[in-house]
Order: sequence, then C-alpha cells, then structure tokens
Amino acid sequence: MKVSWKTLLLWSLPIIVVSFFLWQGFLAPTTNELNTNVASSRMTYGRFLEYLDMGWVKRVDMYDNGHTAIVEAVGPELGNRIQKIRVELPASAPELINKLKKANVDIDAHPTKNTNAIWNLVGNLFFPLILIGGLALLFRRSNNATGGPGQAMSFGKSKALFQMEAKTGVVFDDVAGVDEAKEEFEEVVTFLKQPECFTAVGAKIPKGVLLVGPPGTGKTLLAKAIAGEANVPFFSISGSEFVEMFVGVGASRVRDLFKKAKENAPCIVFIDEIDAVGRQRGTGIGGGNDEREQTLNQLLTEMDGFEGNTGIIVIAATNRADILDSALLRPGRFDRQVSVDVPDFKGRLAILEVHARNKKMDPDVALSTIARRTPGFSGADLANLLNEAAILTARRRKQAVTLNEIDASIDRVVAGMEGTPLIDSKSKRLIAYHEIGHAIVGTLLQDHDPVQKVTLVPRGQARGLTWFTPSDDQTLISRAQILSRIMGALGGRAAEEVVFGNAEVTTGASNDLQQVTSMARQMVTRFGMSTIGPLSLESEESSPFLGRGMASGSEYSDEIAIKIDKQIQEIVSKCHDNALKIIEDNRVVIDRLVDLLIEKETIDGQEFREIISEYTPVPDKKQYTIW
Ligand code: ADP
Ligand code: MG
Ligand code: ZN
Repeated sequence: MKVSWKTLLLWSLPIIVVSFFLWQGFLAPTTNELNTNVASSRMTYGRFLEYLDMGWVKRVDMYDNGHTAIVEAVGPELGNRIQKIRVELPASAPELINKLKKANVDIDAHPTKNTNAIWNLVGNLFFPLILIGGLALLFRRSNNATGGPGQAMSFGKSKALFQMEAKTGVVFDDVAGVDEAKEEFEEVVTFLKQPECFTAVGAKIPKGVLLVGPPGTGKTLLAKAIAGEANVPFFSISGSEFVEMFVGVGASRVRDLFKKAKENAPCIVFIDEIDAVGRQRGTGIGGGNDEREQTLNQLLTEMDGFEGNTGIIVIAATNRADILDSALLRPGRFDRQVSVDVPDFKGRLAILEVHARNKKMDPDVALSTIARRTPGFSGADLANLLNEAAILTARRRKQAVTLNEIDASIDRVVAGMEGTPLIDSKSKRLIAYHEIGHAIVGTLLQDHDPVQKVTLVPRGQARGLTWFTPSDDQTLISRAQILSRIMGALGGRAAEEVVFGNAEVTTGASNDLQQVTSMARQMVTRFGMSTIGPLSLESEESSPFLGRGMASGSEYSDEIAIKIDKQIQEIVSKCHDNALKIIEDNRVVIDRLVDLLIEKETIDGQEFREIISEYTPVPDKKQYTIW
C-alpha cells in the first residue's frame, strides 16, 4: 500500500464534507422545511395577535411542539400578498388555539420533535457509515492500482483516458512545411500498409518514433496524418495523464492502452508530452517520483513486449529530447528521432496555403507577404492567425479576407489586444518621442531591419509600438546586426533624454533595457563578439529545472566574470552614445515626425522613410559604428 496517510486524509476531507451535506439535504427534511421554507421575515407574538384581530391571518403551521409558528397572512401592510412570517410563540398560550379557531384560521401542527429524534438517530448512524464506506473505497482503488493480479486494470480502464480515433481524416497534404519529417514518415506508412515487404527480407519494423519540436509545429498533426494515410486507428494519450496521485495508476493505464492497441493492430499509439513520464530517472532533481518511474518502466516493458511485427507503431512527441531517459532512446524503443522545427519562409508559405484552402481570401492577398511578416510563427500560430482574420472579416461583414484584417490579426497575435489611444498629454508626447526614437535609429542604421510602422495605439502591455520587418533569415545574425539592434532598442530612451532631459526619463524603457542587456551579454558570453575573444562562456539553457546560473556554476574564473561585466557595460554605453548622437543629429525631423504621429496615431514605414529622406539619406552612410 503506497498511499500515504496524508493523501488519504486529504481525500477523505471532501467526503466528510459531502456526506455532511447529504445528511443536511436529504435526511432531515422537517427541520429543513422549518429553516428554509420560511420567509426571512419574522414578527413578534404581540404583532401576530394584532394581525389575528384584524383578520389578516389565513393559516398557521405549528412546529417545534408549538414553540414556533409559520403564519400565512395577507393585508395592506403586507402589500396585499400572502406572506409567510415566522413567529415565536410563548410556552403557554392555551387560549391561542381557541382564538385561532374562532377566527376561522387553518391550523396545522407538525410534530417535528419526534421525527427529528428518529432522523437524528439514523443520521448519526449514517454519517460514519458513509465516511467509512468512502475510505474503504479509496483503499480498494489504490490497492487495485498497484496491480494485484486479476483486478489490476479495473481502475485504469474505467477511466478511459486515452482517445481512440478509428479514422483521423488527416492526410499528409494537411501538413506543410515539414518535408524531411514527412519523408521519414512516408516510410512508416509503408511499414503499416505492407509489412510483408520488410519482413520478407528479414527487416525489423521500427517500434517507436520520437517527434521532437517546439509546441505548435504540427507534431500531433503529423502523427494523425500517418494514421490517416495508412488507414489505421489512432490511439492517443498525453504523458501528463499518466502521472496521477496514486502510485501505479499510470502504469496500469499504460498496460491498458497497449492491450487495447494490440486488439486493434495495426495501429498508431501516440504519446504526447512524453517528457512528463520519460524524464531521466533517478536524478533526484525535483524530488524522486515513484509514480513516474513506475509508469516509465511499464512503458519500456510494453515496448519490449510486443515483437517487431505486431503492427503497432508508437509515436511520441516532446519538445525536449535532451531530458529524456536514455533507456527510452535505445534501439528497439524510440530509436528513430524526427525533428520538426518552426517553419522558415517557404514552410510558412506552404502552411498558409493549407489553411487558406477553406477560407475566402481576397484575390489581392499575397500569402507570401504574410509569410514574410511572420518569422518565428509556428504552424499553429499561422493557423490561428488566418482564423482570427476570418473572424474579423465576418465581424466587419465583408465578403473575403483582405490584407487589412490579416495585418490586424498579426498585430494582435504578436502584441496582444488593441487598447484605446491615450488622450493628448505630456506623457503621450513622451511616448511619441520614445517610439520615433526607436524608429529613426533603426532607419538610419544600415544593418537594422526596416521600420514597418510606428504607432501610438496601445497593445497588450505596450503603450506605443514600433514594428520592424524582420529579414528572412533569422538564423545567422552578424555582429553589426546585433549592435544596430542594441542601438535601436536604446533609441527610445535616448530620445527621452535628449528631448525631455535626464530628470524626466521614464520607466517606459525598462523592457528595452532588458533586451539590450541580454543581447550584449550574449555577444560576450556566447557569440565571442567582444575583446575577451571567441570563447563560449555560457551555454543556452543549461538546465531548465534549476534556476538560471545555478546549474552552470562557475564555468569561468572570477577574473573573467569581471571582464564580462566590463565588456557588457562598454558595448551598451557605446551603443547608447551612438543612439544619442543619431537623435541629436536629426532633431528637426524627429520633431516633425512626432507631431505627425500624434496627429495620425500611426505612420507606416514607407511614409516614415520618405519624410526622413528629405533631410538625410536613408540609411545614413555616416555609419555610426563602434570599434
Ligand atoms: P504540436 O502537437 O506540435 O504542438 P499540433 O500538431 O497540435 O502541434 O498543431 C496544432 C495545429 O496547428 C494543427 O491542428 C494545425 O491546424 C496547425 N499546424 C501546425 N503545424 C502545421 C503544419 N506543419 N502544417 C499545417 N498545419 C499545421
Ligand atoms: Mg500536440
Ligand atoms: Zn521602447
């Protein structure tokens, strides 16, 4: 028995509470009637007699051995409606009954005391019985789950937590932008469709395929597409559903799942979020978890258990293959790994084409424009984007989705809901200068992404926003690009300083500064872009389960640490100087742009560049370089 008393107590508490309510609700009707049936109003005995004299009393119900009465009365004082009023009667009022009789009032007595006693007795017996019954049930359940032979699966089975789809209806054409993964899976489909081809030459069919990739990149969709293409049933369960409060439940679910799968072979078994159970065992980080280990062991056993040709192929998905238990990745288990990544431009275009199929798009909408504007979007983001745009189109009562709705949806997906613009005030001017600062520094620097638009319409947390059109290839970024991004990010604060003075700068730049610091730090510690030299001093996310820096410990000496800090500071301060210089050099056009922005709320990139080019060439070949 592995259920601790603590858990039991925790569980029995709601049962106690529930049974008490049961008792209150169903077992004691009479007291209940008295308590709830009664109007909230009360009156004194004297008042009651007055009512009686006036002939307003219609009916009296006595409770509690004649100590309490519910009086039904009607009269002008009561709004001429029949009202129920509660009256406490004095202990001895024998003349009352006569009086009531004379006044021709309906009387009824409810012998509550006696029934109460009986019900109390029953209740007193029942209450502990329910409690004991509940506890016994709990014990039995947990016993079952730990796997006594014969009754082992009844609990896991009764809660069928895995889903089975006989036909997924998804085909490879529904999945786009992940061509390598698709190729790999076409082979799997052949395994399922024509196993003879492989077994004839003695080839063993793989049992497991691990899909690795960030959320929303189409892992579930791919797995479904395999089942759909091969025309086999699709069993799915999420790793987190294996992990339960009672030790052994997860393991019994695994057994149950595979039993069902074997009955339906050939089929696909899909385990989502396998990292929830498949994490490296025995590291002790985050506390040992008996339940998880048992579940994982059961999973490994099941995968070993079925011979290569039963026609079950297990597909598991995770976004972190590096934390999985190595036993899972051994040959004979998930020996194939297929990675799906956030799509590139071509991939995004293909995915957009898939999702635009069933939507009415305006002929002017070029999907490539959308694909260009959405670097970093996953397949799910893109699907969501087109759907938002379609919803917006319907709301605007238009016939087809235009670029207008798509733009609005992209902004919304990226930066959150649109707020109402600020009224004209000093802080609005300051925000305008801040945003124009970002935009002009970004525009004049040669290596910066071009401005797409500047806006004072708040969105999400931001009170103003400058949008840039990112270049296609975001995977390789040069030193000059990073530096110009740092300068661009500092442009907002720099404009505040130049225009409003040092004392007036605001907290609005805090997010910019975070980004600046992080970029500068990475230049020094990861990309070897400082005078310390080409050293990698920190790895990306060394351990997601420990706090940052805790796991990495000291990969470098204190001496280097001081140098790192100095370098970061130097990079940022030089970039800041440059940003200030750009603002000072272009003060005239900045003032003009700010006035325009306050008037129009939004300036788009093209217009922005045209205005600046009346004053300075864009980009400015003066080259605000550092080093
Ligand atoms: P994951 O399992 O990787 O988190 P899903 O497969 O659940 O992602 O994707 C969610 C939705 O996003 C899918 O139903 C589909 O509409 C869309 N989607 C994601 N990736 C793609 C893709 N490569 N091609 C087409 N649609 C995709
Ligand atoms: Mg998924
Ligand atoms: Zn800013």
